[in-house]
Amino acid sequence: MHPFDDDATVGGMTPEQFRALGHRAVDWIADYLAGVESRGVLSESKPGEVYDALPESPPETPDDWDAAFADLDRVVMPGVTHWQSPSFFGYFPCNGSAPAIIGELLSAGLGVQGMLWQTSPACTELEMRVLDWMAELIGLPDAFRFDRSDRKGGGVIQGTASEAALIALVAARRRSIDAGADPASLCVYTSTQAHSSIVKAAMIAGLARDADDRARVRLIETDDEHRMRADALASAVRSDLDAGRTPCFVSATAGTTSSCAFDPIGDLARAIDDADPAFFGGPRGWLHVDAAYAGAACVCPEFRWMLDGVERADSVCFNPHKWLLTSFDCDCFWVRDADALTRATSVTPEYLRNQASDAGAVVDYRDWQAPLGRRFRALKLWLVLRHFGAEGLRAYIREHVRLGEVFESMVGADDRFELAATRHLNLVCFRFRDDAAGSSERADAATAELMRRVNATGRALCTHTRLAVAGGERYVIRFCPGATGVRERHVRDAWALFQEHAGAAIAAGSA
Ligand code: PLP
Repeated sequence: MHPFDDDATVGGMTPEQFRALGHRAVDWIADYLAGVESRGVLSESKPGEVYDALPESPPETPDDWDAAFADLDRVVMPGVTHWQSPSFFGYFPCNGSAPAIIGELLSAGLGVQGMLWQTSPACTELEMRVLDWMAELIGLPDAFRFDRSDRKGGGVIQGTASEAALIALVAARRRSIDAGADPASLCVYTSTQAHSSIVKAAMIAGLARDADDRARVRLIETDDEHRMRADALASAVRSDLDAGRTPCFVSATAGTTSSCAFDPIGDLARAIDDADPAFFGGPRGWLHVDAAYAGAACVCPEFRWMLDGVERADSVCFNPHKWLLTSFDCDCFWVRDADALTRATSVTPEYLRNQASDAGAVVDYRDWQAPLGRRFRALKLWLVLRHFGAEGLRAYIREHVRLGEVFESMVGADDRFELAATRHLNLVCFRFRDDAAGSSERADAATAELMRRVNATGRALCTHTRLAVAGGERYVIRFCPGATGVRERHVRDAWALFQEHAGAAIAAGSA
């Protein structure tokens, strides 16, 4: 049958063919996820291996689905690192779940492109409502909700926290320029521990030439707990004002990437007030809160303290795709003043004009993001919230925090190791003690070697960072039990691996 025969009514297949292949794909996913625990977590693929295993040219004639599924197993799977493995403890997790996968499938099935309200009202309005729900679930102030802020504020789904930071910075730049600032004078502030996406946003927005350009980007010192120092922020703001520059954008982090530290948002806002009354008073400046990972924990009231002061923020984001069971990509991003955002991004060619937009009666999400087009991502978040309920999400987060505590106590009970930072939520940062390895440098080498050995077993995957420990920047393993299927036995098994390889790692590190 030709793919465009009249009975190929489901996107180039008959409904029967699609049903059969759809079942096969869902079976494949179910088998994969049910068995992912037994796979080596880290892909052992060498550079170029997957590329070379694929034909140089695309098929000229329709290919066979049996062959495609066979190649999925033969060519693709060896090059996959199993982020959904319960023994994936690296970076921050990238949670998936059955309702989110079903949401992705439904979104692809509908094939909606939701750039304008008019191009699918449900795509926009479901997203608006789900973002209001999420704001309620993590305890954000009403100013960030559509339904409680007279539509001044509201939320949107971005692909990533990096995109959220970029769009916040672009809005901040526009607001400062509207307030009379010289575009060449605008300055950005974040901490030395902030995610690289903030500097990257400054590069893309034209406020930094490259990653090391500090002419208008300030990386503010942190305290012993890796939190941005409010006094250091105030003095940086003052010295820029004295030099005729304009403080434009401050990004605070709730849950830094290296150690999950929490910047004191309220103290930072007060420090800005003191140093530059026009920042909030204009308003000219913009305070963004990047809670990419840790924001998910705010579904539990006992963790909401990390967002104390968020009522002073202009925008805030977190990624349900990291730790809230919503398959990549899904970043919830809220703004207090949606006008400031759309003033910075809205361009309306004739071909996008329509009655609803012209009447100003609707939200057009194309103006809340960098691209024009957008997927129906709210479906997956909606289904996740419905499937687990707030109660289920809270239980899930609390269990992962408990697993972090379990791992922390095992590290603490072995005197060869030390915690390299206070544990926050479920992130444990640890390393060999200097005296276990002989010196700081040897402890660094041994810690790196330990991680390499453990990862090479394929039975667990961790990643590293460098953190200030006793005056030096030291090599540290980050252990984050946050995969959807992680259980206490996976955490205990991982610790047994660390112990098994510790002696050899110390010997190799001292060699
Ligand atoms: N901000 C923080 C604190 C992060 O930890 C990360 C990634 O781990 C990001 C931003 C970037 O996230 P994304 O991949 O969504 O851009």
